[in-house]
Amino acid sequence: MTPSARSAKPDAVLSAAAEIARAALSEVVDAAEVGEHTGFRTEGERVGTHYFEARRLGYVGWRWSVTLTRASRQRTATVDEMVLLPGPEALMAPEWVPWKQRIEPADLGPGDLLPTDDNDPRLVPGYTTGDAVIDDRSVRAVCDEVELGREQVLSLEGRDAAAERWYDGDRGPQTPLAEAAPAPCGTCGYLTRLAGPLSTVFGVCANENSPDDGRVVSFDHGCGAHSSVRLSRAAHAQALPAPVFDTLGYDDIENF
Ligand code: SF4
Repeated sequence: MTPSARSAKPDAVLSAAAEIARAALSEVVDAAEVGEHTGFRTEGERVGTHYFEARRLGYVGWRWSVTLTRASRQRTATVDEMVLLPGPEALMAPEWVPWKQRIEPADLGPGDLLPTDDNDPRLVPGYTTGDAVIDDRSVRAVCDEVELGREQVLSLEGRDAAAERWYDGDRGPQTPLAEAAPAPCGTCGYLTRLAGPLSTVFGVCANENSPDDGRVVSFDHGCGAHSSVRLSRAAHAQALPAPVFDTLGYDDIENF
């Protein structure tokens, strides 16, 4: 309710004009689609709305809303507007979510393009670590001219977000695989080192027998294919005694 509606006094002329509202509605809507009068609400000084049940197919819980008003010192209500509005029980479409927020990494197929925002906070110009960029086109031109390499690189924010995501994900320390591992990736011979700041926490698993082969793993992740795992003596096949020739028993051999 707006502040003006809260402070306005209920208007007796308007609240008693439900039939004027219904008559106005019947001029634009089939009478069969207009149900019971369900209420009146004061919207402001000499402005109020009458509600009628909507009986239109597909609009369960919606209501016709007819807003009336009257001029000062007049006792005749006139119609402001008529609309169909959802009531508290109305069946509504879910709230719209922009496609950029709905898209999942797995949605990207071959040939699909996912444009990067110009102001993506995870990226900064390649020659700097966070200075404000005044003109994107001039940056591009300078980078090309002096061959500074990549036009954009990860910002500190982008790097931290990636580190957090990887560490909290399936290849961090808090997974059943890591918790049951005999030793962490940090001590595994199959761990390949990365370069750059992320190399203090992460490496790449290069063990084709591991479920994490080719993936970034944290040093405190782990799996059962750790390079230090050896077959224990008990796990080796037991040596069998030498075979003996049985001269006492005999076998029945069926003739075909
Ligand atoms: S084999 Fe297992 S323990 Fe070794 S680096 Fe890969 S995931 Fe880590």
